[in-house]
Amino acid sequence: MNANLLSDIKDFLFSLRRCSKCLLPETFPGIEFDEEGVCNYCRNYRPIKVLGEEELKRALDKYRGKGDKYDCLVAISGGRDSTYVLQQIVAKYNMRTLALTVDSGFTTGEGHRNIKVTTETLGVNHVYIRNENHIETSWRNLKTMFRAWLKKPSINTIVPTLNAADKTMNLQIYKYAHEHKIPLVIGGNNIGNCSFEQEHFKTGYMGVFPDERGNYTVAGKIKLITFFTWEFLKNTTHYRWSLIKSYASGTLVYFFESLLKPSDVDTLGFYDYVYWNEKEIIPAITSIGWRGAEDTTATWRIDDMMYPLIDYIYLRLVGFNEFDEFYSKLIREGQISREEALKRSLSERLPRPTVFQYLLEKLGVSKDELDETLDNYRVKLLCKIIKKKL
Ligand SMILES: [Zn+2]
Repeated sequence: MNANLLSDIKDFLFSLRRCSKCLLPETFPGIEFDEEGVCNYCRNYRPIKVLGEEELKRALDKYRGKGDKYDCLVAISGGRDSTYVLQQIVAKYNMRTLALTVDSGFTTGEGHRNIKVTTETLGVNHVYIRNENHIETSWRNLKTMFRAWLKKPSINTIVPTLNAADKTMNLQIYKYAHEHKIPLVIGGNNIGNCSFEQEHFKTGYMGVFPDERGNYTVAGKIKLITFFTWEFLKNTTHYRWSLIKSYASGTLVYFFESLLKPSDVDTLGFYDYVYWNEKEIIPAITSIGWRGAEDTTATWRIDDMMYPLIDYIYLRLVGFNEFDEFYSKLIREGQISREEALKRSLSERLPRPTVFQYLLEKLGVSKDELDETLDNYRVKLLCKIIKKKL
């Protein structure tokens, strides 16, 4: 069924020129091909370096036995990468660990299931931070913002509109650690994804690219926030107190998260020390009961409800999404052949149909309405992107 979601634009999807080494297409922001058809991202690629396991042991030892009841808190989402961090920290590094999830209300059934099963198998205590009022407001705001976006679609505001994840999530985790005297919070990179999963294209159309860990320079941040604030204020449907409040607190945290963090809580990014390798991660988490979803062969992003829609929109507008970028990095790292990457990305990048349909229903938008908006916008957008390149 999910292949049908985009079958009407198959010609467009397959007409795009791609790099001869990776999978990036001509619509990727800032891309240029040389005479051999190799893109600048491949030519300028610097392999991912990690600090190593010895360094990780040393770093963890500083916190061993320091906390009240726990040495560290591992933030988990039910996804593959945070589950692996938890499994390693508990089973391999023997830290006294509390697992914690901030439930923004957008975690999928698979995500909740995996959180329950894997923490039980590991014998780790787990807590949810969940605020029903906040979840209700988030859904309502999301609906308003998405409706407004459909009236005036922009490739630059997809993420701020739809990535409804609570921007204060990290601060809530730090606060919990502080209140429970847990000295260390562990996440992927910088309490987030691993380096492979940073999406450079999402702000790239504005000419702003993060570093390989997903961090922006101050100048980059200012440019983004100025742009988003202007876009936000231009739209009068956004003039509702709960939306303004959520926008303002998100912006504040975006700039000042490190200043707002309690000083007695440290953070550690697991994938800054340990090289991300799919062939090690999947067997390790499967062994503690983690499972994929039935309606996709992808193991990435199955814990988050918003991604099927975000991925669908990018695919329909520019003919690629984060899966193309992710697999391109795996090719450059030598983890996978181009042929296999292409085969996998073509099926895995298609949005999960069940979650996609559920979301559209919740947001009160039909697929026809969405497609019409996106198809009209794509014509204008592609002219702009390709003209810029010439
Ligand atoms: Zn390339």
